[in-house]
Amino acid sequence: MGGEPAPDSWKGNLNVSYNIGPGYKDSQSSQKIKMHIQTYNEIRRVYNVIATIKGEVEPDRYVILGGHRDSWVFGAIDPQSGAAVVNEIVRSAGKLKTQGWRPRRTIIFASWDAEEFGLLGSTEWAEENVKILQERAVAYINADSSVEGNYTLRVDCTPLMYQLVYRLTKEIESPDTGFEGKSLYESWHQKDNWTEYKDSPRINKLGSGNDFEVFFQRIGIASGRARYTKNRKEGRYSGYPVYHSVYEISEIVDKFYDPLYKNHLAVAKVRGGLVFELADSLVLPLDGQDYADQLLNYATVIYNLAKKHPEKLAAYNISFGM
Ligand SMILES: [Zn+2]
Repeated sequence: MGGEPAPDSWKGNLNVSYNIGPGYKDSQSSQKIKMHIQTYNEIRRVYNVIATIKGEVEPDRYVILGGHRDSWVFGAIDPQSGAAVVNEIVRSAGKLKTQGWRPRRTIIFASWDAEEFGLLGSTEWAEENVKILQERAVAYINADSSVEGNYTLRVDCTPLMYQLVYRLTKEIESPDTGFEGKSLYESWHQKDNWTEYKDSPRINKLGSGNDFEVFFQRIGIASGRARYTKNRKEGRYSGYPVYHSVYEISEIVDKFYDPLYKNHLAVAKVRGGLVFELADSLVLPLDGQDYADQLLNYATVIYNLAKKHPEKLAAYNISFGM
């Protein structure tokens, strides 16, 4: 590595020189390290916790809020900053229910186990219920870590939900310093404008690596997720530095990430608001226009990429003629 020599107190016992970053002297370096790792194989039981509020008008239409509960080590951020938000949303729905409210559609709350071991809890549950889910589930909202930074909102969702997310965040107050009395939409828009697409806050595509995968990528249920994030323009690292490590303890959230828990509250309002709107609106708040626009965007990206490889298109007899 090309960085400064590491302080003595940081050095381990490997027979190499310890340096701190940034980066490697030679990114093509072919240095190899051999590690001996001792692990155990054992059979363990995993538990999903599922709760349901039956819909009043359309009980056979499901809106699902799910997030995992297991963690690699202490998991103060991943997943507990998210699992706490799930508990608060469930508590709020329970409070409304005691006042006589029932959602139009059925709400299913899920606390998944064994996410870190390969999305096992959510995937097993969805596979067991696949027939009924593909017929009846109308939306899935994922709830992992609520914070990976304290700069602005980050949303990844199907284009069907863009307009719902924008409407909702205009109703939620911004937790950001300097935006007192302003909406979450306003601070988010100012801090992360999606200029390449439209003059609105940026929304990302859903990837994988979390419990929405089986619902969105496999069964095709409209899905979304939201959390507080860092400034992407200063992002020299992915995720957050203590991710999955022994240092992910509650003190790091209390002292650094969200001392007033105001970002957690904003995220709870976004996730809870999405579930509430999807479950209780007369007409499902899904908008096909953004979906069509984004399909055209993706098609253009693929078309431009394909144009750079005419020989491959010819070899595989692929045509983009319309
Ligand atoms: Zn997680």
